[in-house]
Amino acid sequence: MARRKKIYEGKAKILYEGPEPGTIVQYFKDDATAFNAEKKATIEGKGVLNNRLSEFFMTGLNGIGVPTHFIRRLNMREQLCRSCEIIPLEIIVRNVAAGSLSKRLGIEEGTPLPRPIVEYCFKDDALGDPMVSEEHIAAFGWASQQDMDDILHLALRVNDFLSGVMLAAGIRLVDFKIEVGRVFEGDFQRLVVADEISPDSCRLWDIESGQHLDKDVFRRDLGSLTDAYTEVARRLGVMPKTSGPSKPTLIN
Ligand code: C5P
Repeated sequence: MARRKKIYEGKAKILYEGPEPGTIVQYFKDDATAFNAEKKATIEGKGVLNNRLSEFFMTGLNGIGVPTHFIRRLNMREQLCRSCEIIPLEIIVRNVAAGSLSKRLGIEEGTPLPRPIVEYCFKDDALGDPMVSEEHIAAFGWASQQDMDDILHLALRVNDFLSGVMLAAGIRLVDFKIEVGRVFEGDFQRLVVADEISPDSCRLWDIESGQHLDKDVFRRDLGSLTDAYTEVARRLGVMPKTSGPSKPTLIN
C-alpha cells in the first residue's frame, strides 16, 4: 500500500494530501495541548468526538450558505476538505467575558458583553499567537481590506449559527475561534471557514449550571474532557446512541 503524503502536523491534527487535486484529508488526533503546548496530554477518544462535532458544525454552516472547507467525513478520525491557503490569523468572537479577555481587561468571567466582540491574533506558536489590530494586518499584508470585510461577515454569521444551535441544546456559546482560508477558483478567490469547529476551539457553558463543556476542562483540571465533549455531542444528537449497557454487568 502506498504511503500518504503528510502535508503538516499540528498539535491536534495531521493534514495529508487528498485523493484528488485541491483536496486534503484532515486527521483528528487524541492529543490535547494548552498554554501554547506547555501542558500536554493524550485523551482517548477526543479526536473521534472532534471529527464528528466539527462535521456537524461545518455541514450546518454549508447548509445555510456559509462556505467552509469541509466536504465530507471519511471515517472515525478523518474528513475530506478542500485545500486552501490559510490566512495567518486566529479570529476570535466573544459573547461573554472569559479567558484572556477577562484577564486583559479585568472583566469578571461570565459578564455578558454589550455586543459580539471580534478579535484577531497572529497565528504564530513561537510568539504565542499575539493579538493584533487591523492596522497590523493591513501593514504586513496578511489580509486585504476586502478580505477583512469578508472575514468579519463570516465570523458573525458563524456566531449567529453556533449560538442558536447551542442555545437549543441548553448551552451558552461564550466565545470561539475560527480560521479562514482562501480557495482559488480560476481568477477568483473565495474565503471559507477552515480548520475545525469543536469544543477545543469554543467555550461552551451549560445554561443552567454554568458547567464547562469545553477545553477549559483540560486547561483548568475540571474533570474528564471526554465526558464534557460526549455531553455536547449527545445534546446535539451527533453521536449514535449506544444500544444496551456499555459496560458488562456483574452477575453473582
Ligand atoms: O484564550 P482566549 O480567551 O483568548 O480564547 C478565546 C477563545 O478562542 C476560546 O474559545 C479558545 O478555546 C479559543 N482559542 C483557540 N485557539 C487559540 C486561542 C484561543 O481555539 N490558539
